[in-house]
Amino acid sequence: MITLQMYREYLGDYLKKYHNISDLKSFFKCLNPEHKDNHPSMMYTHKYNICKCFACGANYNIFSLIAQDYHLTDFKDQLNKLKELYLGYVPKIEEYQEIDEPLKDYTNYYELCFKNRFKTNYLETRGIHEPLLQKYHIGFDENKKRMIFPINKNCYFARNVEGKEKYKSKGKSDIWNRKVLENSTEKTIIYVTESIIDALSIEEVAPELLTVSINGVGNIMNIVKILNDVNYKGTVIIAFDKDAAGVTASQNLKEELVKNHIQVFENSLITSFEDAKDLNESLILNREKLQKNVKYFSQNYKEYIEKTKKSKDVLL
Ligand SMILES: [Zn+2]
Repeated sequence: MITLQMYREYLGDYLKKYHNISDLKSFFKCLNPEHKDNHPSMMYTHKYNICKCFACGANYNIFSLIAQDYHLTDFKDQLNKLKELYLGYVPKIEEYQEIDEPLKDYTNYYELCFKNRFKTNYLETRGIHEPLLQKYHIGFDENKKRMIFPINKNCYFARNVEGKEKYKSKGKSDIWNRKVLENSTEKTIIYVTESIIDALSIEEVAPELLTVSINGVGNIMNIVKILNDVNYKGTVIIAFDKDAAGVTASQNLKEELVKNHIQVFENSLITSFEDAKDLNESLILNREKLQKNVKYFSQNYKEYIEKTKKSKDVLL
């Protein structure tokens, strides 16, 4: 059995891997976000499995650091995250609570919610507007106060407009917008995001781009399987969040795609890193800037792929 003490031993490795601290015997920059540490003042002590700042007094063990990095207040969630990172343990649907209802055909429910979409301005406040609500038939459940994102007729994702809770109905949970992965050519470029709202944020500033969302970093293998199933021939741009979880997931997905001979680039596309940790925050913060960034990179990827395809044709 693994004891809590054994888990605490992971701190040193976690600092190296997820905070890029290469030398654990020297001071490093304080991890307390409140402390602007210009002269590195934090030190790791293996004996106690903690790191402590000698300027501001902040100290962390593996659990309190994971709590901070992943915004997890529950100890159980912190432990699950640690297991996920170190023991290959992946909770099935990472961020979503499963709705306790039997498998249903939600077609009529989607229609009703879609009609009620004007009864909330939730997505508007997040920079997502009517054309995308129409495109994806996104609606609002007035009674439960949830935005409803249909995945297929038996399955949807939902999020509370007041709290942060996310839900998933029963049913086969495909990734968001999986249909764009079908009928690909060598010129197809797909942007993969963590959350649906991030995918919509890309489409807000560049409606011509094809996006999918994996609905939580725990679902990486899901998209790898689908890409194989549909014999995907194009390129994948991984546009995950710029936090520890996103960066790790991005690297893992990239490795899997390379193994499967799928051309892949990692690019969060996020602007203003200091203030925005995901694409939607970028959109809310500065729409024009995000648009410029997305257009710049997407144009470059397009040209690069056309060029490499042409030279391949010449070689053949
Ligand atoms: Zn400090």
